[in-house]
Parts: sequence; C-alpha cells; structure tokens
Amino acid sequence: MQSIDNFIDGQMRAPISGEYLDVFEPATGRPYARVADSGEREVGEAVEAAERAFVGWSRTPAAQRSRILLKLADLIEDNLERLARAESIDVGKPISLARSLDIPRAAANFRFFGSAILHFASESHATDDLAINYTLRQPRGVVGVISPWNLPLYLLTWKAAPALAVGNTVVAKPSELTPMTAHLLGELCREAGLPAGVLNIVHGRGSEAGAALVRHPIARTISFTGGTATGAQIAATAGPMFKRVALELGGKNANLVFADTDFRAAVEESVRAGFANSGQLCLCGSRVYVEQPIYERFVAELVSAVGRLKVGDPLEATTTLGPVVSRTHLEKVQSYVQLARKEGGRLLCGAEALPAVSERCKGGYFVAPALVTDLAPDCRVNREEIFGPVVTVTPFYDEAEAVALANATDYGLSASLWTSDVARAHRVARQLEAGTVWINCWLIRDLRVPFGGVKQSGVGREGGLEALRFFTEPKNVCVKLDSPETSSAR
Ligand code: NDP
Repeated sequence: MQSIDNFIDGQMRAPISGEYLDVFEPATGRPYARVADSGEREVGEAVEAAERAFVGWSRTPAAQRSRILLKLADLIEDNLERLARAESIDVGKPISLARSLDIPRAAANFRFFGSAILHFASESHATDDLAINYTLRQPRGVVGVISPWNLPLYLLTWKAAPALAVGNTVVAKPSELTPMTAHLLGELCREAGLPAGVLNIVHGRGSEAGAALVRHPIARTISFTGGTATGAQIAATAGPMFKRVALELGGKNANLVFADTDFRAAVEESVRAGFANSGQLCLCGSRVYVEQPIYERFVAELVSAVGRLKVGDPLEATTTLGPVVSRTHLEKVQSYVQLARKEGGRLLCGAEALPAVSERCKGGYFVAPALVTDLAPDCRVNREEIFGPVVTVTPFYDEAEAVALANATDYGLSASLWTSDVARAHRVARQLEAGTVWINCWLIRDLRVPFGGVKQSGVGREGGLEALRFFTEPKNVCVKLDSPETSSAR
C-alpha cells in the first residue's frame, strides 16, 4: 500500500511518530493508501522550514516568483490525467468531473495568481501639498492553509497560490480523507523549482495537525475552508492570538425558479446544481423553490432528469454521480433522509443505498440521488447543510415569499435565480443574503470576483485582489513634501 508522507522543507518525510492512517477509496470502501498521522511536532518542523524559507522567497523578485508558479501550472496540466485519476479514486468523484473541473482549476489558480502578481499595484494618497502617502503591501510571513475533502487540490491551490504569489510561505493541511493530490503537488513543486520550505504539506487529522497549525504562534495568517463548526473552533483559537483569519464555511443554497423562466434550462441546471459531485459542493443548490403555476410540471421534470443521472464507478467515463466520501458521511446523508420523512417530507426518488453499482464497487458508499417535497420551510432538513445528494423542492406564490424562503437559513454562501424578467432578476439579487448570486446560471466562476459567504457561511472574501490583499500587510509610508517657501529659500 502506498504511503503518503509529509512534504517539509522540500523533502518527503515520514511522520516522527511513525504512525499512519488508512485512506479509503469511497468507490470500494477499501483502504488503498496510508497517510502520515502528524501532530504538533511535524507542524512545528513545517512552520520552522517555512519561516526560514520566507527570508529568501519574500525577497525573490515578483517576476521570478511568477515564473515558478506558472511552471507549476504547466506541470499540473501536463499531469492532468494522473491527477484526475488520483482525485477520482481519493474522493469518489466522477473522473470526468476531476478532468474538467478540479485539475484544470488547480492549474488555473497558479496561472491566475502567478500572473496577477505582475500587475498588483498599491495605492497612493496625496495630502494636499503637504505630503504623499503610499501603501506598501508586504507578505505576512508563514500562512496556514486548511482545506476540505470535497475539492482537495482545487481548494488547497486556491489559497496557496495567492499566498505564495505575494511572497508568503505556506504550511498546508489537507483533509486526512483525501490527501493524494496534495501529495502529488509536493512532487510537482520540486520539479517546478519552488525553493525548499516555500510550500510545506503536513498530513493528519484536523483535531491534531490542523489544530496545531492554527495555534502555532508563527503562522499568523490562517486561511480555512470547511464546515461551520470547525470554523468556529478555529476562530476561537485564532481570535485571542490576533491572527488574520479567512473562513469559507458551509452553505444551504437556494435556487429560485420563477414561472417566466426558460423552463428546460432551469430544470437541467437545477439538477446539476443540486447533485454535482454528489451534492458535496459548498455551492450546491440544495433547496429548490418553484413558483406555483409551474410547480407540478417542474417537479415532474426534475424527477425524470434526476432519473437520467448515472450513478456508477467514478473511474468510468460515463458516470455522472459517484459515491459520497466516507461511510460516516453516507450515514449522515441517510440520517437526513430519515429526518425528512419524520418531518413530513415526501420522497419522490432516491436515498436508498446502492451497494451493487458494480463488482469492483460493491463495498462503496453509494446512495441514489434524492428529491424531497412537502417539507415546511423551517424544518431542519431545509435549514441544515446535508452536503450530499439530497435536494428539497418547495412551491412559492410571489417574489416576496421567494426572497423570504431563500433567506430563511443561517447560511449565506450563494443563490441562483431563474427568470426572464430583467428588472426582477436585479431586484431579487439585491435582497438575497448571499455572497454570490447567479442569474439564469450556476457555478460560472471568474477568478477575479470576490468569493465568500455571509452569516454562518464565512468571514472574508477570496479571489482576485481580495486574496492578494488578504495575504499582504498594508503599511502606509508618509513622505513630507518640501513647502514652496522652504524650497525657494534654498
Ligand atoms: P471540516 O470542517 O470537517 O474539515 C475541513 C478541514 O479542517 C480538514 O482539513 C479537517 O481535517 C480540518 N479540521 C478539522 N478540525 C479541525 C480543527 N479543530 N482545527 C483545524 N483544522 C481542523 O470540513 P469537511 O472536510 O467535512 O468539508 C466539508 C465542509 O466544507 C462543508 O461544510 C462545506 O460546505 C465546506 N466547504 C465550504 C466551501 C466554501 O468555499 N465556503 C467550499 C468547500 C467546502 P480532517 O478532514 O483531516 O479532519
């Protein structure tokens, strides 16, 4: 069985304790690798390596940093097939999705921030004739990056790329459930010529390695994506240490379908939004609200579109839905289906376990995609994040009710709305409590736009300039000007 070691100071290092954790393949339910079970000591080594490397990396000219990050992007693309296969095995996601979304996006992250750094400028403020202020934006030092299992390489690089581009060094802690592509990234970093210690990857459990990174005094910047409860723990540790923290947390996103919409497109995209990556995307539209006049027809079409999804071995090219990530997660998803029944919901399709997808996958964590109706808007299934292939559908009567239903959750990550009425589209978008609103689409991403959540979906924004600013420390430098009198007296 392959061992996944830590990547510290440019080398693969076994955990000091010698302990490893099994890594399971979700499609088969069997362990296929083992990953370093690191803790305080390994995190300490990685942070120290990153601190040493900071001296050189922060002084490396931006053009040189850019060249290395662009080379890393090229190498990710050159290794697309290998990385996509690794991601598919590790997460259980369809290989077609890993090929078209996860791995290209990881390359795009390095390419985007590797070039952005060449254009990153800061402000200057003239104080009448008295002085000129200019803002220096300096790297902050060692950055801790903690990322989840659903988009392992995509999200790790989304954080690491801007942090490295502006001259910080990084210690990343991927999810212990899905460590493989982070491990492969370490190899590619060496090939790209990234100096030792600039990016370090420490594997292990969140409660051990993750928590040790958050409380390490030298890692003064923490960028986290994961669940809201974990985000609260991180904030509680980092707050009193006055660390700078970005928290990208959970979602329970609404998808509002008005009667005047392009019906077919709304059905197809609602299915994609609800079930992509088996519903394990923070941006999934897991609550669909449909205007009354088209409700019955829309629900019928949804059921038939969901029936066309192909649940299967994620390594097969035609599979559209793989297993969920772990047995524990499968049990969580199924418990929410039971709860939906208890709360008065009607299951239109799905939710049964699918143990016999194929001979190879007979122990996998498969579950049929589920649609539930007849639930009260304020029930737990409509408010809590399930993070699996379970979508609720509810009718609404007018625009005001649609907005109220969409906002009736503690989360506020994203929302979609479907209408051909332009005025309504803008009016509703303004009222939705969400960091991102998609109109007549879902998951169109431009890396320049601010990305993040409101309410319990997070604090701070990623993407474009927001990220470059987050990972730098602004310092104002004030230069007094000679007054005309002083200079003429000379
Ligand atoms: P978790 O919060 O369980 O874990 C996220 C990461 O944090 C993992 O690397 C985990 O390690 C680590 N971790 C766990 N406990 C601690 C701790 N006490 N201190 C430091 N680190 C810790 O989330 P999941 O991995 O289950 O990911 C799913 C969640 O992520 C969902 O809620 C989803 O909505 C959210 N998410 C949000 C996104 C956004 O952009 N807003 C995007 C994608 C996902 P380990 O797994 O090894 O225990």
